[in-house]
Amino acid sequence: MEVTRFAPSPNGSLHLGHAFAAIVAHDIARSRDGRFLLRIEDIDGARSRSDLADEFRADLAWLGLTWDEVPAQSTRLASYDAAAQRLREMGLLYPCTCTRAEVSEAARRTGPEGPVYAGTCRGREVDPAGAAWRLDLGKAMAMAGSLSWEDELAGIRQAQPELAGDPVLVRKDAPASYHLAATIDDAADGVTLVTRGMDLFAAANVHRLLQALLDLPVPRWHHHPLLVEAGNRKLAKRRGSSGLDEMRLRGEDGRALADALRAHRFPAGISLGHHLD
Ligand code: GLU
Repeated sequence: MEVTRFAPSPNGSLHLGHAFAAIVAHDIARSRDGRFLLRIEDIDGARSRSDLADEFRADLAWLGLTWDEVPAQSTRLASYDAAAQRLREMGLLYPCTCTRAEVSEAARRTGPEGPVYAGTCRGREVDPAGAAWRLDLGKAMAMAGSLSWEDELAGIRQAQPELAGDPVLVRKDAPASYHLAATIDDAADGVTLVTRGMDLFAAANVHRLLQALLDLPVPRWHHHPLLVEAGNRKLAKRRGSSGLDEMRLRGEDGRALADALRAHRFPAGISLGHHLD
C-alpha cells in the first residue's frame, strides 16, 4: 500500500507552497488507495512553536484533506540517538566543532546545501562535548557501495551523497539533523513514497546512503516542483506570501483553494518553478 507524508516544521505558519505540497502527497495517497500521514518535524527545539501544530491541523482540515497523524519528532529522540550510536560504533561519525563561518571559509566549492564542508575536523582530535557529528562520506560510501534511488518524476538516479560533503547527522543544538531524523522516521512510519518539494531533491542522496548503512527499507521519492514568486524565488511567509491561517481566519474557502491549486490555478505572481532535469 502506498504511504505518503506531509512533514512540516512548526517554525512558521504554512503558506500556499505548503498547501500545494500537502495536496500532492494527499492526492497521490488517495488515488492509490493508500495512507497520507502528517508528521510534525519539531526536532529543532529552539525554533519550534508548540502552538503551530494545531494551526497546521486546522489548515489541512480547511483545505479538505484527511490524514493519519504519526508521532512528532520530539517524541522520537531515543531512536535518533540509537541510530547515531550505531553509526559511531561503525566508525562512520566524527565530532566537528567548526562554526558556520569556518565551514564557509574553508569550503572549496558550493553544493546543493551551500558551502561544501572541507573536512576540517575529519581525523582531528576534537572534544566531542558540545560538538556536532558528521558522517565520514568516504568511509560510508566505501562501506555501502554503489547505490541508486528512484524518483517518480525524475527516474532512477545514481546516489551522489558526495555532492554536499560530509553531512551533519547530530547537530550541536539539536539531537539529530533533518537528514537523520527524516530518514529514520520515514522508515518507522512505513512511508513508501517520500513526497516533498524539489528543493530537497539532493537530500535523497544522503537519505539513500543512510538507509543502506542502517538497513532501512528504501522508499521511492516524488519531488514536486515548488511554487515560486517572480524571479523564481521560492515562496516564503516572511516575504508576504499569504499564510493559510490568515486566509482561513478571513473566511476564505479552503476547499476551493485546494481545487485551484490542483488545477495549477495560482494567485497572480505565483507559478510552478522549473523542474530539475
Ligand atoms: N520538515 C521539512 C520542511 O518543513 C520537510 C522535510 C521533508 O519533507 O522531507 O521543510
